[in-house]
Amino acid sequence: MKLTFLGTGAADWDINAYEPDKEFRRFSAALVNDDLLIDPGPHIFHFARSTGRPEMFDGVRNIIVTHTHADHFCPATVEKLCFGRPCTLWGDRACLRILERTLGPEKAAQIDFRETFVRMPEPYRIDSYAVRPLRSNHATDDSAETTRLYIIEETEPERRILYYGCDSAWIPTESWNVIKTLPVNVLVLEDTCGEPAADDWRIFEHNTIEMLELMLRMFRKYDCFAPDVRYYTSHMARTLHTDHQTLVKKLAPLGVTPAQDGMTITI
Ligand SMILES: [Zn+2]
Ligand SMILES: [Zn+2]
Repeated sequence: MKLTFLGTGAADWDINAYEPDKEFRRFSAALVNDDLLIDPGPHIFHFARSTGRPEMFDGVRNIIVTHTHADHFCPATVEKLCFGRPCTLWGDRACLRILERTLGPEKAAQIDFRETFVRMPEPYRIDSYAVRPLRSNHATDDSAETTRLYIIEETEPERRILYYGCDSAWIPTESWNVIKTLPVNVLVLEDTCGEPAADDWRIFEHNTIEMLELMLRMFRKYDCFAPDVRYYTSHMARTLHTDHQTLVKKLAPLGVTPAQDGMTITI
């Protein structure tokens, strides 16, 4: 299984400030292989254009949504990928409410939307993947929305498991109770708050480096996950981090690699 980071920033990055040779993060989104998109954010086509791969989403057949904050869910992106194309959108019903509001009920009805739920006994079968939406510790203005973390599993040619956790402070108990039973190979943890943001107020919705340290110590103490497990971070805030190299150095002792836009990893 291959994962490409299309964006690794939090919501405070400004796409208008993008310069090709300057360090930059787009809003968080990722592509599993070439056909499963995690979060239809507003910057994914900018990524495709600026990396010279305008056709890179032609093969996307399914989209899963973590939550409907505007940096993760963009109706125009959904319209472009799903309208009149064989591409299914999977997520909380909040996605559909936004699509109905922004695109109109008629157009929204033509998008192949499948409502999914957390705490299901079995994962959802999405093409060749087994996908488990799990509750995240995060919230939007839609009081009926359940925000999500994801476990994405591929069984062929061998069993490989990805955890994708943007956005969430910690991991809620009910989700941890599932994650801890699985031999996860790669965890993408969110790190909105960097080194200059110790004791930040966002600890109730996002991770800080101190929180990552505690979680990683515990993962290792109890030998959680697969023997080859690797850890990455994404969703770094522009205003709560210094630069990428500083973060690389800060996370190296924890055995964690901060992702960058365009980074592709094999899971
Ligand atoms: Zn976000
Ligand atoms: Zn969010």
